[in-house]
This record gives sequence, C-alpha cells and structure tokens, in this order.
Amino acid sequence: MQAKIIDGKALAAAVKQEAAAQVEALKAQGVTPCLAVVLVGEDPASQVYVRGKINDCAQCGIESRSIRLPETTTQEELLAHVKALAEDSAVHGILVQLPLPAQINEKAVIDAIPPEKDVDGFSPVNVGRMQIGEPCYLPCTPAGCIRMIESTGTDISGKQAVVIGRSNIVGKPAALLLLAKNATVTICHSKTKNLQEICASADILVAAVGREGFVTGDMVKPGAVVIDVGINRGADGKLHGDVDFAAASEKAAWITPVPGGVGPMTRAMLMLNTVEAARRASGN
Ligand code: NAD
Repeated sequence: MQAKIIDGKALAAAVKQEAAAQVEALKAQGVTPCLAVVLVGEDPASQVYVRGKINDCAQCGIESRSIRLPETTTQEELLAHVKALAEDSAVHGILVQLPLPAQINEKAVIDAIPPEKDVDGFSPVNVGRMQIGEPCYLPCTPAGCIRMIESTGTDISGKQAVVIGRSNIVGKPAALLLLAKNATVTICHSKTKNLQEICASADILVAAVGREGFVTGDMVKPGAVVIDVGINRGADGKLHGDVDFAAASEKAAWITPVPGGVGPMTRAMLMLNTVEAARRASGN
C-alpha cells in the first residue's frame, strides 16, 4: 500500500478561507479581529514563525500587532507589555512566542494572558476547560491534527489512537482531543516499554517526539493514519519529521508530510481562534 498524503498546505488554505469569511462578517458588524504577537529576542526560528503568523493575519483580514523586545527584556518588562495588551479592548488575541530567554519564567507569562485572549490555548483555564469539554480555545497544533485526521474521512470514534509524546503543548492535548472524539487512546513517552508493539497497534498514530526518523516502518500498522508533528533540522539542513516518511508511506493509508503538514495547519488554527476571540468579545 502506498499512503495518500494529507496536504497540510491545502487544508490550511481552506481553514484560512473559513477564517477570512468570518472576519468579513465581523467587520460588517464593526469588529476587526486583532492578534498581538510578542517576540522576545532574536531566535531565528521564532522570527520565521512570527513572520508567518503576521502574514496569515494579513491574508485573513485580521489586524496584527507585532511587539518585538530585546533578548535582555526582564520578566517585569514583558509582563507589563502583556498587561497592557490584556487591558486593550481592541486586541482580541495575545500570543507570546515561545521559547523565552532564560531570565523569564514562561509560566508567569502564560498565566498573565487572560483566558479569553489566550488564543494559543496554553493557559491553565483553557487547558482545564478542554479537559472537561467546555468551550475553550483549543491548542492550535493538536486541533490541527484532529482536522487533518478528519479530512481523510476517518471516523475517529472507536479507533485505537497512539500519541508519542506527552508535552503540555502537543502530546497531552492531542491525546485529550482524540479521547473527546471517542478514540481509545494510549500515550507513549520516554519511559514507555514495548513502544514498537504499541505503535504498531494504532489505527491513528500521532508522533510528537522531536527526533528525526524516530517512527520506523515496523511501528506503523497497515492502513493507519499517521500524523507527524515533529520538526527537526536534519544534517542536510532541511526540515524532517519524526516519522521515516518513505518506510511509513508503504504501510499507512494516510500520512502527513514534513514540511507542508502539521506546521501550516497549526498556523491556520490560530487564525480561527483569533476570530473566535473577537466574536466572543463582541458578544456575538
Ligand atoms: P517536547 O520535547 O516537549 O516533548 C517530546 C516528548 O517526546 C516528551 O513527552 C517525551 O516523553 C517524548 N519522548 C522523548 N523521547 C522518547 C522516546 N525515546 N520514546 C518515546 N517518547 C519519547 O516536544 P514538543 O514541544 O511536544 O514537540 C515535539 C515535536 O513537535 C518537536 O519536533 C517540535 O518541534 C514539534 N512541534 C511542531 C509543531 C508544529 O506546528 N508542527 C508545534 C509544536 C511542536
């Protein structure tokens, strides 16, 4: 079997069109959605991500504010910026690009973003609401993964889903969202035994490890849907996922490429969250 590709770029374009249509409707009611993106320091990858998010906003008709602070910014200074954005009623979403320089406590910054403007879905309130199935902002990467799985026509309900990775931003929420769709979910991590066996039982396999080629062909069940969240800079200077794409493609029914898979979808889902934040703020 040769897997079909889940085209993240095409899906992301469709999601952004969906966001743009909602922006139009909000603008007709006098509301212009606005996302503030805060970048501290000069990390090259973060600069690329932030540029991408600002471009996405422009494509969707969302206003954006880019706040760039020096590497030496103190926690108090950053918190003061976040507080000002939190109090600014024209700003609907606040995103502080991670990672932050060592002198800043990430948790303190995330906690300072009001839940209603936390379009990354990282604040404890949104995480808690997701856990109990209340309306919230879903974290963009896992929410994008679910859209990608559903785009294949796969009914997640009743499927064996395996997530490799248990980070707060990808692995854990991906597992929770799959559970909310009635999958039977196993979370694997660095201490998991029998990893190959567990993965090979997965109808849906989500890899979020951060190690190039970690998922080998023998870890993929024939006919599985494989979602590769990993972004790893290879020795060849190119981006690679966590999955051995060539080997997994021979077994899976569907697979996401890297690049052009989960990455673009993550950014597109951020646009939907921002529009939703504006809609809620406007009382619609
Ligand atoms: P992380 O380092 O926080 O978590 C990695 C997880 O992998 C950990 O939970 C760990 O337990 C697990 N792990 C490590 N070694 C393992 C092993 N030998 N066996 C089983 N599990 C093991 O990383 P993260 O933030 O969750 O990101 C994971 C990957 O996804 C990275 O490559 C990151 O760049 C990428 N990522 C991509 C997007 C996107 O939009 N595409 C978004 C976020 C993260």
